[in-house]
Amino acid sequence: MRNGPLATAKAGAQSRAARATEDIIMKGSCLCGSVTYEIDPPLALFQYCHCSRCRKVSGSAHAASLFVAPSQFRWLTGEADVARFEPTGAKYYASCFCTTCGSSLPWLVQGGRNVVVPAGTLDDDPELRPRGHIYWDSKAPWYHEVDALEHWEQLPPRR
Ligand SMILES: [Zn+2]
Ligand SMILES: [Zn+2]
Repeated sequence: MRNGPLATAKAGAQSRAARATEDIIMKGSCLCGSVTYEIDPPLALFQYCHCSRCRKVSGSAHAASLFVAPSQFRWLTGEADVARFEPTGAKYYASCFCTTCGSSLPWLVQGGRNVVVPAGTLDDDPELRPRGHIYWDSKAPWYHEVDALEHWEQLPPRR
């Protein structure tokens, strides 16, 4: 990647993203703030996962997951407040969450190959953007492409 297409990208936005994802240590935290973590660059993979497990864990239409090597990841504070759950029969899947506020938190896949980072727990913009939707076959029947919905800056006007 370092000497691949990104290194020769001419577009300003692309080279800025390349620098950020290769140079910046990303920080993240849970809702109550007791658990914090950081990730060494580079971030390589970001995707939305619509599998039924990710929908349960996120409570939403899909997980927004970054994948990093275990050597890139470390807890900074609150590791003792992190609980881990492994669903019966799951080969790789697990989930981690804060025992105080319930926020999803980064989890090491069973077997230890990757750490899956819920992008919503990042405190800064990773600049890397999602590559695509995985487990699209499992998407919720009510999932509606976000661009097709109306947008309000905050809440819709009262009627
Ligand atoms: Zn918390
Ligand atoms: Zn999933």
